[in-house]
Amino acid sequence: MPLARLPVVALLLLATASWAPPRAAPAGAPDDDPAAPYAETVERLLDAALAEGRAYELLHELVTVAPRRLAGSPGAAAAEAWALETMRALGFENVRFEEVTVPHWVRGDVGEVRFAEPAELAGDHLPMLALGGSVPTPEHGVTAEVVIADGLDAVAELGEAARGKIVLLNRPMDPTLVDAFAAYGGAVGQRSRGAQEAAKVGAVAALVRSMSNRHDDVPHTGATRYADGVTKIPFAAISTNAADRIASLVASGRRVVLNLRMDCRTLPETEGRNVIGELVGRERPEEVLVVGGHLDAWDVGQGAHDDGGGCCQAIEAVRLMRSLDLRPRRTIRVVLFANEENGLAGGRGYREAHLDEMDRHVLALESDSGVFTPRGFETDANPEAFAVLASVSRLLERANAGKLVPGGGGADIGPMRRDGVVQVGYLPDPQRYFDLHHTHEDTFDKVSEREIELGAGVIASLLYVIADLPETLPRNPSQ
Ligand SMILES: [Zn+2]
Repeated sequence: MPLARLPVVALLLLATASWAPPRAAPAGAPDDDPAAPYAETVERLLDAALAEGRAYELLHELVTVAPRRLAGSPGAAAAEAWALETMRALGFENVRFEEVTVPHWVRGDVGEVRFAEPAELAGDHLPMLALGGSVPTPEHGVTAEVVIADGLDAVAELGEAARGKIVLLNRPMDPTLVDAFAAYGGAVGQRSRGAQEAAKVGAVAALVRSMSNRHDDVPHTGATRYADGVTKIPFAAISTNAADRIASLVASGRRVVLNLRMDCRTLPETEGRNVIGELVGRERPEEVLVVGGHLDAWDVGQGAHDDGGGCCQAIEAVRLMRSLDLRPRRTIRVVLFANEENGLAGGRGYREAHLDEMDRHVLALESDSGVFTPRGFETDANPEAFAVLASVSRLLERANAGKLVPGGGGADIGPMRRDGVVQVGYLPDPQRYFDLHHTHEDTFDKVSEREIELGAGVIASLLYVIADLPETLPRNPSQ
């Protein structure tokens, strides 16, 4: 509420030093600041998140029940059962599974990269992980000389030099980019398409430098894909230190020969489940805001930041509202997607199952960038909707989470973009995420209780205000 509209008695109260000012709209807020009336509610949500939040506890449960939960695995089924039971126990409404068909890749028991040459290094192991979706090697592996490509575009330039060789795609993430996600985006093409490009020039296998700014011995897995009509060659990630070691040997004129062995394989597709629970709207229950993350995670580490934490923040956002007896005008629907890491069956399946109500989906919010210190949100919202979201962001400045920038939302909610559903992505601080992403190191001990809880409060605040505003957030144009 702007100062000028306060009743006289309130202005008198403001003048007394002993009286604490109300937690209302900041002075100077424009009259048309639509979120301003929610200032006190946002304060309560943030207070509750910090004092009584349960996202951290929920995440501990999830990673204990299902530390490894790649789509199609027994761990994925255990995670789905946990999420269903948890949302029921918390009193969510319309809690259910929605089945989707998911890919089923398994890492197998064998995965190693060893030097064959130079002779003095023969037998030394390099830290590696098979990339998800990779074909296996023959039983005794692939042994070949290494040639280096500085990124995806450089593979074709190798031409005949790559025939019969192992191509190492070695373009680092750009360390000068403050937004580590942008650096990842600039480098990850060599992981997703490196094998197909290397196969086109006759390579027998490929390796990729791990997607990380750190110089360490931790390999990072991730999805790769093959192209129709192109030979499928085995493809693995090696640590940044290992990539640097090979590159410096080659640069000094040494011939490097490696042996790569893997018995990973793709099994027939199977059933997965999106897990859904709701806080049904009190006035316009047919209008829906989706909040979610992906329940699947790579089969290394615990998927604590990617994306168990995001799933638990989504659950916690609704639990916080319920704990404060807040029921917004519109429905908030938690969707924990079944398959993001090695496919997008969760997000695609959700959209297909809900096509008839896509025009009543107001917004979709995903938390899938880690659960580090909250900074704010990114969105593809049209200018009118952006202004409304910016009004909410101003209320989040107390949490240092007032940032609102143009951007996408998240992979799982992406399929709804074409229907005009405004996409919102939760933005925590990005600097540490790629130290852990898709590695053995993405474990519960890397999560800060304060950070995940404050993030859940920030997410709950944005969702609640948008779900409760008298005016529905303007949709984006359908594509
Ligand atoms: Zn993720």
